[in-house]
Amino acid sequence: MRRATTTAVLVALGYYAGVHVGLVLKFPPSTPSFVWPPNAILTAALLLTPPRRWWICLLAALPAHLAAEFGMGWPLPLVLALFATNCSEALIAAVGVRWLSDTPARFDTLRRMTVFLVAAGLVAPFLSSFLDAAAVTIVRGELYWSVWQARFFSNALTGLMLVPAIVMGVTAGPAWLRRAPGARRAEAALLTVALVLVGGWVFGLMTVHPTILGGPVTPIVFLLPIILLASVRFGPGGASLCMVGTSVVAVWAAAGGRGPFAGLPPAETVRALQILLIMLATPILCLAAVLVDHRRARSALGERVHELRESEALKSAILNSLNPAVAVLGRDGRIIDLGSNWFRGSGQGGAPAVAGLGLGDNFLEAWGQTASVWMPGAAKITASILEVLHGARHDFSFEYPCQSGAGERWFAVSIVRLDRPESGAVVSCADITSRKAAELDIERSRQELTHFMRVFMAGEMTASFAHELNQPLTGILTNARAGLLFLDAAPPDLSEMRAILSDIVDDGKRAGEVIQRLRDFLRKSDPQRASLDLNVVVHEVVRMLASDAIIRNVPITVDLDEKPVLVFADRVQLQQVVLNLLLNGMDAVAESTGARRAVVVHTRNTELDTVHVCVEDCGPGLRAGTYDLLFEPFFTTKPTGMGMGLAICRSIIGAHDGVIWAQDNPSGGAAFHFAMPAVTAAPA
Ligand code: ADP
Repeated sequence: MRRATTTAVLVALGYYAGVHVGLVLKFPPSTPSFVWPPNAILTAALLLTPPRRWWICLLAALPAHLAAEFGMGWPLPLVLALFATNCSEALIAAVGVRWLSDTPARFDTLRRMTVFLVAAGLVAPFLSSFLDAAAVTIVRGELYWSVWQARFFSNALTGLMLVPAIVMGVTAGPAWLRRAPGARRAEAALLTVALVLVGGWVFGLMTVHPTILGGPVTPIVFLLPIILLASVRFGPGGASLCMVGTSVVAVWAAAGGRGPFAGLPPAETVRALQILLIMLATPILCLAAVLVDHRRARSALGERVHELRESEALKSAILNSLNPAVAVLGRDGRIIDLGSNWFRGSGQGGAPAVAGLGLGDNFLEAWGQTASVWMPGAAKITASILEVLHGARHDFSFEYPCQSGAGERWFAVSIVRLDRPESGAVVSCADITSRKAAELDIERSRQELTHFMRVFMAGEMTASFAHELNQPLTGILTNARAGLLFLDAAPPDLSEMRAILSDIVDDGKRAGEVIQRLRDFLRKSDPQRASLDLNVVVHEVVRMLASDAIIRNVPITVDLDEKPVLVFADRVQLQQVVLNLLLNGMDAVAESTGARRAVVVHTRNTELDTVHVCVEDCGPGLRAGTYDLLFEPFFTTKPTGMGMGLAICRSIIGAHDGVIWAQDNPSGGAAFHFAMPAVTAAPA
């Protein structure tokens, strides 16, 4: 509603002002107007508003038209007929542009500009002038063709110059004013000043003798550089504003009987100026549109080339990591065959730009003797090759980072013994820096998401935490009150006081532990793996959920392996997995109407050097058809669910080389399992 009112007010004001400008730029009073802005303003308004709101623009223009033209003493039928022809011109132009242009309010390609020039600059004034001339001829008895001509030229010129200026002023002007750097503003200001000065001189405002000796007959050519510069630097918007400026200066000068057409009678002067400006505006606007189009195409091409270059770089990085440099070594370590991908660095003396395996041409030949080499991983490679050749191991493969002048690079090395009499081993080395960077990126995002989910889950357990904290805090309060009473006794019972204070200390510790657990759980830090007992992890989580279980009336039972269930893992991440599975189990039980309400956690060491954890519930079980979707991100069947919990569990367990799966329990409810490698010996 507010928008419609604003549009209506702006159109009415613009139209009203346009009529007055048209009347002012009329010289001398008996001749037709030089330019007639109301129609151009209406056309611009129609181009800027969707067709369903056009009626607002047309209706808003009516009072402005009546107010402006009644003062001229014309009869009402003529005033109304002229309004109808004005509207018809704007409508023909807007319908034509909308029909033929892909973006009606833009003039930044040759096609869009041509459509505009033809529809709004030629066809609309051409057709509507027949009606206009007929109305004027009938009511005022003027000559049909001279009215037609006068209207056609003035409306064509105004449409050409003003519509792009208004449309672009509205669509791009505010952004330009806000964002244009100082240098651009200064350039625009300079061009404006130059246009006014040169235009004034050309059209004889400043001197009554504009022509220079031997100069061209139409000195408007002096304006061309400025207009061209405006088109090149500021596109169609700059060009049309420049044309508006030129027309204003020209009409001013011509009204005073000066300028290049000074010798002509007034009506001829008007026509000559109009034709000149139309002829000038048409190619200039096209040129400006072509330039913008060209600039856009060039930048799109630039982007494409950049993309291609990037994808080339990526391709070569992938190829590089797929195409390792391979060397076949003899039993004594001599190179038998060296693939072409080995980087041949400049050797120990001059550090190469990118670290590689090559240390001069002799690196691989010399590896046996060269115990210390410049590359951090090289010593390890050398030692590994020796181990393989001496039969201590069959193969090695490892990834290692390497600092070089160009930053950190990652290499993947593999050494495999060849079980053939003449050959010793195959060494391959691939630059996997790009892959590593991508992996690190993914890992970082995964950690962010994991932490976010922990915060989300902690939010869900607020009631539980509040309940857990409440117990020690109430204990402290009760004990403190009792203590005050004991102090009042004479003499105070010191042994009771000591017992009370020690209870307060215990409660304080319990409250501190609750907060510490929450802080540990929410801490945002890099995962730190350590050898830990999953039984302990399960206990910690069950304790965290103890109050929640009471509040929701879903008891959690544990059935843990008697022996420690040892894994090498990040404690907080595993807590997160168990917590998520338990919360889901409790949700499921809450959903079910069955009499049994319990969630059970089992942990087991298996014979396959893996550990197995299972969380079972008595809920409704898994929904048919959802088995494949459960661990997908954003899959949820809960009204307030996020569907990220199980996806994160899978990524955490996957990162710990484990697997997670779900199945329905034969006795009802769902069971979520995960298994991961057990720690048999202390991890290296
Ligand atoms: P959320 O809990 O936000 O929905 P999850 O990834 O943790 O996200 O769970 C995804 C979906 O898996 C749940 O919406 C639910 O449909 C199903 N689901 C998870 N746990 C159970 C369970 N114990 N019993 C039945 N369905 C479950």
